[in-house]
Amino acid sequence: MQTPAYDTDNIFAKILRGEMPCFKVYEDDTVLAFMDIMPRGEGHCLVIPKAACRNMLDASPETISHVHQAAQKVAHAALEVFRADGITIQQFNEDAGGQEVYHYHVHVIPRHEGKRMGPAGVMGDMEAIKANGEKLAGVLN
Ligand code: AMP
Repeated sequence: MQTPAYDTDNIFAKILRGEMPCFKVYEDDTVLAFMDIMPRGEGHCLVIPKAACRNMLDASPETISHVHQAAQKVAHAALEVFRADGITIQQFNEDAGGQEVYHYHVHVIPRHEGKRMGPAGVMGDMEAIKANGEKLAGVLN
């Protein structure tokens, strides 16, 4: 299978261009991290590259490295802020791989002992997401 071309109108590209809002938790020259609006756990956030790529399959090694280094940074912050016991990292590639938004992204999901991850696709409480984003941003910036 050949990876399809990058679509510049995807939601995360719009967030990067400032055309759509997000609850930002971290940003540097190469990546942006923001809260997932359908969180599968308290503090669920996403790390995306500023480089235009669809997923891991067309990302450069440098971009993959930047995204995962930032994911590690966010994960450490989440462990502290949410007193998490662990972190689940998820990353989906293409439709068959579970991908829904076609701009490369890594999910960082704080986990607590004995607590299952929530369902996908359920809109979260925006006030709670905003508050969690502010907590994370507070230790990351
Ligand atoms: P996937 O491509 O399967 O990794 O899923 C895309 C993820 O992006 C899902 O977890 C959605 O909840 C999340 N998502 C979609 N739109 C937005 C948005 N505007 N802001 C934050 N998260 C989003």
